[in-house]
Amino acid sequence: MIISLKKDVRKEEMNHLISWLESYGVRTHISEGEFQTIIGLIGDTTRIDTDLISGLDIVDNVTRISEPFKKANRKFHPEDTVIKIAEGVEIGGGHFQFIAGPCSVETESQMETVANAVKASGAGLLRGGAFKPRTSPYDFQGLHEEGIRLLLETKRRTGMPIVTEIMDIGHLPLFEDVDVIQVGARNTQNFELLKELGRINKPILLKRGIAGTIKELLMSAEYIMAGGNERVILCERGIRSYETYTRNTLDLSAVAVLHEMSHLPVIVDPSHATGVARYVKPMALAAAACGADGLMIEVHNDPPHARCDGPQSLTPEQFDDVAKSVLAVRCAIGGK
Ligand code: PEP
Ligand code: MN
Repeated sequence: MIISLKKDVRKEEMNHLISWLESYGVRTHISEGEFQTIIGLIGDTTRIDTDLISGLDIVDNVTRISEPFKKANRKFHPEDTVIKIAEGVEIGGGHFQFIAGPCSVETESQMETVANAVKASGAGLLRGGAFKPRTSPYDFQGLHEEGIRLLLETKRRTGMPIVTEIMDIGHLPLFEDVDVIQVGARNTQNFELLKELGRINKPILLKRGIAGTIKELLMSAEYIMAGGNERVILCERGIRSYETYTRNTLDLSAVAVLHEMSHLPVIVDPSHATGVARYVKPMALAAAACGADGLMIEVHNDPPHARCDGPQSLTPEQFDDVAKSVLAVRCAIGGK
């Protein structure tokens, strides 16, 4: 349920209403926008009489929210959420970010070369996997702790905030200085992991499940937000379909739908969506054109020899070209 208050309501009146609502055992979520304050109710609202609340002087209107996701819902928070990742690095609400880097962290010189190159091309964040979810147990699984160490070292040298994937909540202490924790497509519905990430105060980049619906993605975001961590970035990375010429099928309609349903930033990963380096640019441009708040793109200094996902990785030069063209598209659609 959401309760929109009239303009210029006094704080004491609002607090009085909140205490009364909470006496019904529901939790409240306040969204103070430029034009309107909204009280969102989370929990069992069946005993709350909407007519009674609508009749109060300070209340403009009351709506029951039918969707099962509440905190992620745009009705709870009409304005776009802007997530601050580091000084000068924000995403959402018109702030666009490139997140770029190799699929997996391999060596110090690889990380340094790629980081410096993508930074020069305008990437705001550096990505790199230390714990890699691989379909085959015989494939390279990532450098684990050493991978995180190399990421942090590159962050220290370049000043770029870093994004890396968590696969096991037991590893969380290793992520203390990581700026954004990624939850990969295979863990989108690992609810115990999501609940734990809801208890920390760090942005979470949540990917859409391999065969997950948009609603399921939003419910996974809700798991994190329900615990109190409201800094969730949603990522469309393609879904499983019957198509075989691409690794997944990029569902760009998800960007429009998610922006309508939710206030959270939405980014697109054209690398995992297509699995083919030459398709990354056209899909990146399309993602920018339909309003994505950012792009996550795999970049490797030597794609043919990458230990993971070489065929979909761009060279730094190719990334530079994509970044320039994406910015031109953003300009054309009136983005910042
Ligand atoms: C990744 O970003 O490296 C990754 C494994 O992606 P996904 O979870 O989307 O497959
Ligand atoms: Mn990858």
